[in-house]
Amino acid sequence: MQAEQLPVHNTISQAAALIRASDHVVAMTGAGMSVESGIPTFRGKDGLWTRYGQPPMDGFKRFREDPVGWWQKQVNRQMDAHMIELRDALLAAQPHAGHHALVTLERAGVLHHVITQNIDGLDLKAGLENLIEIHGNRSRLRCVGCGRRTSLGDFVPQEPPEPCDGCGDVVKFDTVMFGEPMPSDTMTAAREQIDRATCVLAIGTSASVRPASGLLWIAKSQGATIVEINPFETKLTSICDVVIRTTAGEALGHLAGMFTQSAAERPDGPVSEVRYGA
Ligand code: NAD
Ligand code: ZN
Repeated sequence: MQAEQLPVHNTISQAAALIRASDHVVAMTGAGMSVESGIPTFRGKDGLWTRYGQPPMDGFKRFREDPVGWWQKQVNRQMDAHMIELRDALLAAQPHAGHHALVTLERAGVLHHVITQNIDGLDLKAGLENLIEIHGNRSRLRCVGCGRRTSLGDFVPQEPPEPCDGCGDVVKFDTVMFGEPMPSDTMTAAREQIDRATCVLAIGTSASVRPASGLLWIAKSQGATIVEINPFETKLTSICDVVIRTTAGEALGHLAGMFTQSAAERPDGPVSEVRYGA
């Protein structure tokens, strides 16, 4: 079924009805989830790649060829301009109303798990507990050999990290680089959640980064309903049951309100007049 384009407040009510009818609700978030915290996306209007150009897709290969030189560039701030902008945004960012709304939905027992493609750690900072960071967390390090993760405690390394305590192999950021195999622990955990899901909220994702995005089509093929929250159309839109065409912060704030306010308190009026090309 293709979702009709309805006013935003109607689609939020429809999404709430789907969620109420579901016994396992999972959210899959992407870079758009953190735009309202000041972190740009890669693709789309104002995206880092749109402004700086798409980088080569062989980052992991280049890291493996020269890990010492790679870390020196990080420490000396000699990375590509788009990575410097992303790092500075990560340093400044705080969770916004949408992250807090996810926590509200989790604590209300409505949202059971979040799979994020984001590496910014904002879901954890907001207090979300049932979280899979499928592309890693930029404030952690991970051993290439045994997969052991340690905290960097910051987004900025002061010096290149020591080799792994456990196996002696090279250590990198926990974030999954282009060309790097996905860590199997997080991918397996994400697949388990998708297999259980009866409703998936796809929030702020272009649904174009594989294999993470493939989980959304698997969920649909297994009978889950899909709610998209995104100001713009994506590859996923045509298979969604409900499409909420506004920002993550606005949509999730109102969605959380549907589950925490009594019927008498709930505003049935418009959530805002903002419309994004819908
Ligand atoms: P993407 O950059 O491909 O797409 C972002 C999506 O967010 C777009 O569909 C866009 O329409 C939507 N969007 C823009 N503003 C929004 C808003 N305010 N509310 C809701 N949606 C909004 O992102 P992706 O699909 O997540 O994939 C990009 C990859 O880049 C991910 O794997 C992720 O690891 C990485 N990334 C992460 C961050 C972060 O951690 N914050 C930032 C940039 C990129
Ligand atoms: Zn190791």
